[in-house]
Amino acid sequence: MTADVTTRHEIVEGLRATFESGLTRPLAWRKKELHAMKELLAAGEKELLAAMYADLGKPAVEARLTDLSFVSAEIDVMLRNLDRWARPERVAVPLVQRPGRARIVREPLGLALVIAPWNYPVQLLLLPMASAVAAGNCVIGKPSELAPATSSVLARLAHCHLDARAIALVEGGPEETRELLDERFDTIFYTGNASVGRLVMEAAAKHLTPVTLELGGKSPALVDASADLRVAARRIAWGKYLNAGQTCVAPDYALVHQDVEVAFVDALRAEIRAFYGEHPKQSRDYARIVNDRHFDRITGLLQATTGVVAFGGETDRAERYIAPTVVTGVRPDDPLMDDEIFGPILPVMSVRDMDEAMNIVSDRERPLALYVFARSKDVAERVLAGTSSGGVGVNCTVLHTAVPGLPFGGVGASGMGSYHGRAGFETFSHQRAVLFKPSHPDPPVQYPPYTRIKRWILKRLP
Ligand code: NAD
Repeated sequence: MTADVTTRHEIVEGLRATFESGLTRPLAWRKKELHAMKELLAAGEKELLAAMYADLGKPAVEARLTDLSFVSAEIDVMLRNLDRWARPERVAVPLVQRPGRARIVREPLGLALVIAPWNYPVQLLLLPMASAVAAGNCVIGKPSELAPATSSVLARLAHCHLDARAIALVEGGPEETRELLDERFDTIFYTGNASVGRLVMEAAAKHLTPVTLELGGKSPALVDASADLRVAARRIAWGKYLNAGQTCVAPDYALVHQDVEVAFVDALRAEIRAFYGEHPKQSRDYARIVNDRHFDRITGLLQATTGVVAFGGETDRAERYIAPTVVTGVRPDDPLMDDEIFGPILPVMSVRDMDEAMNIVSDRERPLALYVFARSKDVAERVLAGTSSGGVGVNCTVLHTAVPGLPFGGVGASGMGSYHGRAGFETFSHQRAVLFKPSHPDPPVQYPPYTRIKRWILKRLP
């Protein structure tokens, strides 16, 4: 729903009252709503696929895989594990505190705000919302206005399927988001670019609201001389050109050992042809750029690069089509190396060895993902030990995000906090520390006056 300021304020107040009523705390309610989210995805599949196609030319297979089934599978993990995650956790009590029993109780934080971007418009909205619900919170989701068709279908489906007393979708752009941010939330979960991330954090600071920021960055792919080049090329090409490069964990650029650079680029060409044919524009499996602004930004990079277009390079503004493109001979000061590309251009830089590659990575902000391709386990381990990133794929790209047991999130400039699987449940929970003590015995040793004998005992207690 698009709502004016007053209505938005009323929604916030309504949801807060619901949270305070205790409706969302019982596990039965949480599970019912998680099942309802799955129903929403199943019942709305056709409409959602059509909407994502309208917004991004997203191929149905990819949209199913990365948006619909992705969320559904994560919800299954929540449903299977919720009882265990929510169970109070016993903690050992030190000798001096005995008798006593200690436990950690996971409690919902209250009212959560989830702000989503446009590139995986279903996954990046519904998955954090599902985690918030699993943890027993009320939640407002704010889809991206840059995927308007998906935003409107999601709002309608949410209204039909979810408990409106506790879960709401509020549509709108920057202005509506800013107004929402003026409200008080108990946690804010934002996915998108870092500049807006800063605004979110500033707004949250006013109310001392904790934030989770899922940002982006330039995720490198390091290709060692020991790598299986065909596999490396295929997996890097898949991760890069999925959703036309508009993926936060896409390999942004490749750092390739000089001995295998030519062979790697040849392999890339072959794999891109195998994926999308001679004319990727006609492929049903290749997406489009989200809007003219991003199209102009990406094609601008292509015009500004001092590298050589080794593959692709064709563009069509009317269709917002940019061919899967590989640029070689790229240097660290190339415009392609300034910011996250977030489009289907893969700059390839040749490096002397993996040490040089690691130095290039470490000179930049810490990325959301890092990929290393090597048959040598030592090389892979060395790259792991010598770098930092939100997540890592060894001999793969993107797929580490689809292992629900792995937390997903950035580090440094690529974000703070994480979700997926149990990490999502924890992000939306407060770990409440509880100690139960019987009234007796109540030895006087800890109480004043601290006599010599008491001091002697206290010094020696473990
Ligand atoms: P976007 O433009 O859709 O913005 C994200 C959200 O912020 C939207 O809901 C939008 O309405 C809101 N917003 C935009 N401008 C605002 C403003 N001035 N004030 C308040 N709210 C505002 O998406 P985007 O930022 O273009 O997304 C792409 C970026 O997100 C990339 O950097 C990408 O790497 C990152 N990303 C990260 C992840 C992750 O999981 N870490 C996932 C996807 C995208």
